[in-house]
Amino acid sequence: MNIEEMQHYQALPNILKDKVILVTGASDGIGRVAAKTYANYGATVLLLGRDLSKLDTVYDEIEAAGGAQPAIIPLNFSSATVADLEKLALTIEQEFGRLDGILHCAGILGDLTPLEMYNPDTWDEVMKINLRAPYMLTQQLLPLLKQAPSASIIFVSSSVGRKARAFWGAYSVSKAGIENLSALFADELANTTNIRVNCVNPLGTRTAMRAKAYPAEDPMSVYPAEHIMPMFLYLMSDDSKEVNGQSLDARK
Ligand code: NDP
Repeated sequence: MNIEEMQHYQALPNILKDKVILVTGASDGIGRVAAKTYANYGATVLLLGRDLSKLDTVYDEIEAAGGAQPAIIPLNFSSATVADLEKLALTIEQEFGRLDGILHCAGILGDLTPLEMYNPDTWDEVMKINLRAPYMLTQQLLPLLKQAPSASIIFVSSSVGRKARAFWGAYSVSKAGIENLSALFADELANTTNIRVNCVNPLGTRTAMRAKAYPAEDPMSVYPAEHIMPMFLYLMSDDSKEVNGQSLDARK
């Protein structure tokens, strides 16, 4: 499949049936829409986020739409420890017995400001949430993913992770790190496991983060998250079994 076909992928109903998929940042934005989409296509979705009431709403929306019953995993990446993530892996194993995929959507923007003035505490916070947590979470969940017949990990990057953009500070650096992290996992797991690892740049998408980054922009001029779901569905489905180590744009 070429990139355009991936961006316009049309999934068969229930393509994700029997799969258990963890979505981080499932309380809002792209993660929320992706969680609902995966559930619509039959997956049991584990909704990870820091805001329980927002996660409850997504849970209810999935149930109301007739999706497979999801589960809520409250976790704040800002304070999550290795022990928390070990416990999470154990819980998933005990409760669900399997894990077929992770979509890493959680992220924060940090400050848009010159590096000369960038606050080191904000820097640490952005790195913790955008880069350290996805690495640690993936590391802890690898044993479970290795047991799946075919598993998919999707990291979410950004244009400023591919090419540095002035004033985007820690966010830009964290996303460059995500591109590299994704490529490393892909390479290390390629020949010895059934796990594929890819990185997706959503491009400008109508969410709270986008509005924070571009406060003067008319939100209606930006694509909604629904528009980019074909790529996220494709990479999570077994139709992408042979795709590994790619850095892809979610749309044209
Ligand atoms: P949103 O701000 O809408 O959503 C971010 C999600 O991350 C929310 O669910 C949020 O939870 C969660 N989150 C933030 N901090 C933490 C934390 N400490 N612990 C756990 N979860 C946390 O952003 P988007 O949907 O726009 O972004 C999703 C991904 O896409 C991000 O990685 C972003 O960098 C990337 N991206 C987005 C683009 C866009 O145009 N929107 C463009 C390029 C990349 P809560 O609801 O509690 O805030």
